[in-house]
Parts: sequence; structure tokens; C-alpha cells
Amino acid sequence: MALIVQKFGGTSVAGPERIRNAAMRVKSELDKGNQVAVVLSAMSGVTDELVGHARELSSLKTPEALAEYDTVVASGEQVTVGLLALALQEMGIKSRSFLSWQVKIKTDETHGKARIEEIDAHIIEESLARGEVPVIPGFQGVTAEGRVTTLGRGGSDTSGVALAAALKADRCDIYTDVEGVYTTDPRIVTKARKLNKIAYEEMLEMASLGAKVLQTRSVEMAMKYKVRVQVLSSFTDAPGTLLVDEEEVMERRLITGIAYTKTDARITLAGVADRPGIAASVFGPLADAEINVDMIVQNVSADGTTDITFTVAKTDLARAEDCLKKAQAELKYKKMITDPNVAKVSVVGVGLKSHAGLAQKMFQTLAEKNINILVISTSEIKISVLIAEEYMELAIRSLHTAYGLEG
Ligand code: ASP
Ligand code: MG
Repeated sequence: MALIVQKFGGTSVAGPERIRNAAMRVKSELDKGNQVAVVLSAMSGVTDELVGHARELSSLKTPEALAEYDTVVASGEQVTVGLLALALQEMGIKSRSFLSWQVKIKTDETHGKARIEEIDAHIIEESLARGEVPVIPGFQGVTAEGRVTTLGRGGSDTSGVALAAALKADRCDIYTDVEGVYTTDPRIVTKARKLNKIAYEEMLEMASLGAKVLQTRSVEMAMKYKVRVQVLSSFTDAPGTLLVDEEEVMERRLITGIAYTKTDARITLAGVADRPGIAASVFGPLADAEINVDMIVQNVSADGTTDITFTVAKTDLARAEDCLKKAQAELKYKKMITDPNVAKVSVVGVGLKSHAGLAQKMFQTLAEKNINILVISTSEIKISVLIAEEYMELAIRSLHTAYGLEG
């Protein structure tokens, strides 16, 4: 008998009919003789709507306001857990829901994007021991003081993996509306291929570089606690994608996928004095304003001044401009140029660790298509380039072909 955590995303619980379908998935796992604990998202669209209501009434600037924001947006998951328990009971399966404060899923106090610190799973274990299917809301937690928190958008993936880790489950199945993890977005490349397996660290890069199937933090957690995560569709019976250790990926492929984001904007400070401490004076004020900087390039100077180019989230662009205008007197840059119409395209694969020619293939492919690279950044297993947004799809398609990722 195996213990499986099944996590269903928003589209998989988007109404009574879909919830009944999810209940059937639970039943078929039980019929195999397994134990099942379930983690759910809110119905798709509901969290957006709740966020909208909260924003209409509040600028959400104070800690108290953020705490109330969590009270509001966590409610979507309370509805679905109750409904799934009802659907299971109706099928003759014993089932109860347990909210985050009942479980308890303990988090820090960072309302709106809290981190799970500990799950006290004994209530769930007792429920399983009674032969029930416990149903737990994803996305929500509780502070030491007993206030409800939420884990950041998409956070129910993390709840699912965290619960699987706490229960030492044999597997965590993440049900969504796609059949797994693809070499790239199938909406852009129709020949994108579903991966049977992907290494944790590759998935971590893919998720943080824009592949939206899993919340990045859930992958970090799966990697840390060695949770066997499977991503699969709740609408078909196709096998999904399994997250595994690098050694377990049997296909000896070098490049695994192409990820992209359109959420960043570029800032260039032209004619900045080239002296020690200049980077600290540019990025210090941004860090103080909690603006994350992603890609950075700085040139060596010929005439004592240099240009620094970097990216920030589009949503932070206006604040970043403000911040840098205020620092003008100190930084003495000649010009600030900003551009929101950029995209980051990334090639991911463990092969980059050992095969030097793989990076060159990316630059060559983009050169052949006449796509100008604005910024490059690399890590052990990924190369990202910043390009004009209008060339993004062309870049993705060309790279997908160049690396032979087609099915
Ligand atoms: N319902 C939350 C959201 O939409 C959490 C999740 O679905 O993962 O962000
Ligand atoms: Mg999700």
C-alpha cells in the first residue's frame, strides 16, 4: 500500500462537475489499495477575483491590511475542500476537510507570500488511519499567532509537495490541465514534446525561467526532501512527467527545454562614472526598495564612464525609475533608458555543465535569425538572453529546432 498526495489545480476543480471528476481520480487510487491525501487549489479565476475585490477596497500597504488580504484570498480553497469532501462522501468514501489552522500548516508572518516552516501532520495521519481521505486547502497556512497566511500565487503546488514531505508520501501527483512538462510552451511550438522525466534542477530552472506548470518553490521543496513529484492532466489518462534525480533521467539528452518570460523590463544607465562602489550605489537603493534585479551587464570603460544595463520586473519599473532618478545626483549618469518590450529566452539542460559548444549553438541560431542579444546571463545549467519582445516566438521556435527538441 502506497501513500499518495494528490494535488488538483484550479482548472481541475473549476466547478461541481470537475470536482466530481477529481473525486473519481481519488477513488481510482483508493481502488488500487493506496491511501490518499488531497490538496486543492481554489476554482480557477476565483483567487484573481478575490484579489481584485481586496485591491478595490485597499492599497494593501500596512501589515494589518496584508493580513486581511490573506483572510480574503485564502477563502477560495476553503470552498473547494468542502466540496470535494462532499463529492467523496456522496460516493461512499469517508472524507473530511482540514483547514490550514486545523492541520497545522505553520508559516512565517510574511502575509501574501509566507513560507511554510513546519507541518504538524498528526491530524492528517490520524484521519488516514481512520480510513478517511483528508482534504487540505493549498495556498494557505497559519502563523504562530493563529492568523491565516497565503503562500504567494500558485502556492498550492508548494502545499502539495510540503504535505507529501511531511507525510513521507510515496508520491505527490500534481493534476493540472496539461499532460506534463514540455520541452517548451506547446502554444508557441506545436511540435513541443512532453518529457517523461526531468531532473529536479532542470525543473527548478524551467519553473523560475517562466514554465508555469509548477511554482518554483514547490520544486525547491521537492528537491530538498526528495519528494517524487509527478505532473499530469486530470482530463486524460496519459502518463505525466516525473521529477527525478539527474542520474535517473535515462534519455541522454543535453538540452531539456526552452523557457521564456515577458515579465521583465530593461533599464540602462548610460555614462555612469566607472569607479569602485558604483554598482553598490546603483543596486543598493533598489534593494532597499525591495526591487529585485535579475540580469546585469556592465561594460569596461574607455573614457572613465560606463553603461550598466539590468532588468527588473515590469511591475517594478516605475518604482525603479523613481528610485534611480532620486539617486541621479550621486550616480551622475548621463541618461536613463528604459524598455518594457523585452523578453528573456532561456535554454536549460544539464548538458551545459560539460558541453561547451551548446552555448555557441544558441548564439549562432539567434545570429542566423538576425536577433540582437541585449543581455546574457548564465548558470551551470542554463543560458538566458534578453531580446526584443517581438522576436521572442521566432527565437523559441528556432532554438527548439536547433537543439533537436522536436518529437
Ligand atoms: N489559488 C491560488 C492561486 O490562484 C493558489 C494556487 O492555485 O496554486 O494563486
Ligand atoms: Mg497552479
